[in-house]
Amino acid sequence: MAHVERFAPSPTGPLHLGHAFSALTAWDKAVKNGGEFLLRIEDIDQSRCRPEWEAQICEDLEWLGIWWPKPVLRQSDRLETYQKTLRDLWALNRLYPCTCTRRDIKDAAQAPQEGMPNFGPDGIIYPRTCFPPSPYMSSEPFPENQTLRLDMGACTRTLGAPKIDSERYFSFVETGAGPNGETGLIEFTANEVDKTIGDIVLARRDMGTSYHLSVVLDDAFQGITHVTRGQDLFEATKIHVILQKLLGLPTPVYHHHTLIRDDTGKRLAKRDDARAISKYRAEGATPEDIQHMIGL
Ligand code: GLU
Repeated sequence: MAHVERFAPSPTGPLHLGHAFSALTAWDKAVKNGGEFLLRIEDIDQSRCRPEWEAQICEDLEWLGIWWPKPVLRQSDRLETYQKTLRDLWALNRLYPCTCTRRDIKDAAQAPQEGMPNFGPDGIIYPRTCFPPSPYMSSEPFPENQTLRLDMGACTRTLGAPKIDSERYFSFVETGAGPNGETGLIEFTANEVDKTIGDIVLARRDMGTSYHLSVVLDDAFQGITHVTRGQDLFEATKIHVILQKLLGLPTPVYHHHTLIRDDTGKRLAKRDDARAISKYRAEGATPEDIQHMIGL
């Protein structure tokens, strides 16, 4: 069976130890399985991405001994594809425009809703303030340059497989582990998704797409069979599985790995320049030293 892995950094800062762990884990899995390793530059947020960071990331990856076919896929070259998909979903009545500010959402979500968790993998669970009265939408022109939300309930009502009690459910295979040790066949129900994820943003204003939409389309476009990434994205995978079902795309095998943390136990962020690979390189570290530091 083909085995295609990818590493998908956003060039918003230097490659640090956490990224190196992710990239090397995916690379090792690809090599071990006689597969392929692809690089994808996730640069949809043009206000934060810089070509200098991209160049530095590529240089650091090569220094670590990782190789990938060129040219790389850059998400900023795929905006038309994302737009086309959004228009298709609009025509299917799966999207609605949202004009809420962060503040609006916070205020509305603070109204007590018993049993409802506040936060999901896409931030505060949207209280559906902008959800339009039905029947809605597809007859109206596609809203250009607006925030568009996914009507998650409409998706979960129609997608997924019915199980006992006719509750619809979704699944994916996990070969690493989620933050609570979840591994193997991960199953989750429509009800759980509606309650703990809700109507996520599928297109951000001024961006014309979102991380979730782009990552799902691009993993399929690049033929990725195995996604290796940090545990912080484990819950987001549930969103991705639903989007794959909605768009008729295959679901890869997922491998979520533990996160590299700093001395205080906080996970490394882009701004952790102290852990940047380029800094270790400048201090004379070898790729083997980096492997050793991240426990590989
Ligand atoms: N661009 C994302 C990041 O840098 C990658 C997410 C993923 O691997 O799906 O965190």
